[in-house]
Amino acid sequence: MNWDEFAPWGRRVADWAQDYHKTVGDRPVRAQTKPGEVLNALPATPPESPEDMEQVFQDFEEIVMPGITHWQHPRFFAYFNSNAAAPSVLAEFLVSAISPQCMLWQTSPAATEMETRMMDWLRQSLGLPDPFAGVIQDSASSATLAAVLTMREKALNWTGNTQGLPGQTPLRIYASSEVHTSIDRAIWISGIGQDNLIRIPIKGDWRGMDPQALDAAIEADIAAGLTPAGVILCVGGTGTGATDPVAECLAVAKKHGLYTHVDAAWAGSAMICPEMRHYWEGVEEADSIVFNPHKWLGAQFDCSAHFLKNPDDLVKTLAISPEYLKTHGAEGIINYSEWSIPLGRRFRALKLWFLIRAYGLEGLRERLRNHVKWSNQLHEKLAAHPDIEIVTPPMWSLFTFRYLREGTDLDDLNLRLVNAINDDGRIYLTQTRVDGQLVIRFQAGQFETTEQDVMMSYDVITEIAEGLT
Ligand SMILES: *Cc1c(COP(=O)(O)O)cnc(C)c1O
Repeated sequence: MNWDEFAPWGRRVADWAQDYHKTVGDRPVRAQTKPGEVLNALPATPPESPEDMEQVFQDFEEIVMPGITHWQHPRFFAYFNSNAAAPSVLAEFLVSAISPQCMLWQTSPAATEMETRMMDWLRQSLGLPDPFAGVIQDSASSATLAAVLTMREKALNWTGNTQGLPGQTPLRIYASSEVHTSIDRAIWISGIGQDNLIRIPIKGDWRGMDPQALDAAIEADIAAGLTPAGVILCVGGTGTGATDPVAECLAVAKKHGLYTHVDAAWAGSAMICPEMRHYWEGVEEADSIVFNPHKWLGAQFDCSAHFLKNPDDLVKTLAISPEYLKTHGAEGIINYSEWSIPLGRRFRALKLWFLIRAYGLEGLRERLRNHVKWSNQLHEKLAAHPDIEIVTPPMWSLFTFRYLREGTDLDDLNLRLVNAINDDGRIYLTQTRVDGQLVIRFQAGQFETTEQDVMMSYDVITEIAEGLT
């Protein structure tokens, strides 16, 4: 293919994408393929000679599309949505056309300066104070790893990178039982070790960490000669939306001089609505905060916003600067690769610029508010059903429930229910465990979902539940 052939194909792809998004609601949400089906449909060896793009495109539709789970489906209520609003897709098309590698300021000044500006737009949108500066990471997992490495280096007085960890007194990191597995992985990769991730018990409707238990755990570790290094808070956990009492936990961490990181990967987007910010009141005392615009806010994957009160700590942890990466003769520039783990970086800020300008903050807020409102309506309706038990109450647009039937193993019943719902294809839900019990999650957050899409879930859930043998 040459660039003369590119534009007609580009138009065709744009038409295809528009049609796909407008009709995706007619497809089953979760892919209905069996394991190996797509693999077996793909030739085992690569072609030696060029193939016709027409044929490639046809195979894309026939082989690939049936094996896709439609994350942009208006009735995708599983996991957390990973939205792709139209303006952000356009921006990614442009980024893909120019494909800059944005590791240093000089490798594309516009990408760096756009990133600085967009992160400040997001900071203001979330109501965070001035000292916070931001960087776009590929994922919340990377942001959390960067924060844990910073905790490690600060606790070791910046000797970990050079000397490694052998011989050190164990470093201790504290988090609730509800945090995401990306925290465990960050602890593994940083060399701190799973045994030194201390799970603090939770309490209350928000299933948040008990600040007194946090304080007691830190005191006990100090008494035992261990080295507390940091606290990781959860705002909107993946299973049930669990949220720690942010102000109280940060006060405990601060009293002990510990570095703090807040994982608000999903719920952070909701903070563009001032009335939802009470969930993380006091967050301005944190050192590091991550949220994913690639979830609820509408920028497509990947785009993770990482705010730092003092970026110098992070840069001191991660920066490495051989001669070939030095930029001479330019003062006051930022090289964002010194703020993140991979060296190479995509131009991710452009899609935020397109997205925020195309909707305005009011347009984005309206969508999120509707998701919360409709999800609460569905929750009320399900709560009134005699055989449905709400297990955890709505946190933003997420709640969990169970179907009840006397004399039946409820874990098995609910697992069969969620599988039957997903085989049916009209809606897509996932399960989680709450205090050991298998429960079904519902969350609304797809950009094009309507009140009708959300409320239809009631009919699908109750119809399929009643039909289970
Ligand atoms: C989605 C999610 C993550 C992981 O995000 P990635 O960007 O995929 O790494 C971490 N924490 C929470 C609470 C999440 O919801």
